[in-house]
Formats: sequence, C-alpha cells, structure tokens
Amino acid sequence: MKIAVYPGSFDPITYGHIDIAKRALKVFDKLIILITVNPNKSGFFTAAERIDMVRQVMGDCGGRCTIESSTDLTVHKCKELGANHIVRGLRAVTDFEYEFQMTHANRTLAGDIDSVFFMTSNEYSYLSSNTVKEIAQFDGDLETFVPPYVAEKLTAKFRK
Ligand code: ADP
Repeated sequence: MKIAVYPGSFDPITYGHIDIAKRALKVFDKLIILITVNPNKSGFFTAAERIDMVRQVMGDCGGRCTIESSTDLTVHKCKELGANHIVRGLRAVTDFEYEFQMTHANRTLAGDIDSVFFMTSNEYSYLSSNTVKEIAQFDGDLETFVPPYVAEKLTAKFRK
C-alpha cells in the first residue's frame, strides 16, 4: 500500500491545499494530512481548530484520508505512520527554493523517504493561508478561497 504524508501548517486549510490533496489521492492509496505544530510559534488558529477544519472539509475521502498533528520532525512522524512519501504543493518558482532545502534536509535525515510535488491549478497558484487571513481581516469575500466552514471560522475569529 502506498502511504503518503502531506505535512503543512494548514493555518487555515484553503482550496489550494485541497487541490493538492485530491491530486495526491489519485496516486497514493492512503493520504495522511499532518498538521505540523511548531511549539516556538503561535499559529493563528490552534492545532485543535486547524484539525477540526481539515476534518470538516476533507472528510475521510472514502476511508483513504486521515488527519494527524505533530510537533515532531516530519520524517520521524512518517516512520511512525509507515509512510515512505511526503507530499508537498508547488504554486510558483518562489516555492521551489524552500522546498528544495526541505527535501534535501529530509533526505539526509531519512534516505528512504521521498518527497513528491504536485503543481496546483492555475486558479490557486497565488493562494496562501496568509492571503486568506488578510482578506478575512478586512472583511473581503472568501468564497473562492476557502470552503464555507473555514470562511465562517475566519470571520468568527476576526470578530472576537
Ligand atoms: P508550510 O508552513 O509547511 O509551508 P502550508 O500550509 O503553508 O505549510 O503549506 C503546506 C503545503 O501546501 C506546502 O507544500 C505548500 O506549498 C502547499 N500549498 C499551500 N497553498 C497552496 C496552493 N494554493 N496551491 C498549492 N500548494 C499549496
């Protein structure tokens, strides 16, 4: 069985992340969406909120998708979960430098785990969690960027 881990902050999940997850599910039997939590950085949403949003919008993809969170190194978590592949998304050339560094660091740590990259649809190539938070902060229309459940959570957070 081909198992892949898709790690990321998902703070919050956007249609860009969902696009990558759907592409990965065409290639892998099982996809584990891994919400990475950096104990030194406070996210906008808590880990529990991010997990809840991913769960609501992804469901279980017919039993092929699970959601986990981790404060550990991604390669350690991959080993624990029995995954040999890391899925990442590429939007534009600007993503490449960072992904290149991460891939080589991960390969040095765990030579048997390979990273696989999917390119997003053009319509999401400019989309990031940060853009979405800025739009929400200034009351912009979130409809084309995030699912309605995530839009509600963003709006509620800024109204607090
Ligand atoms: P990280 O902090 O690990 O970069 P993100 O949640 O920002 O976490 O991104 C996780 C992964 O999803 C990264 O590989 C990123 O390039 C990809 N990604 C994020 N937004 C998009 C998008 N709009 N289209 C394609 N890939 C995306």
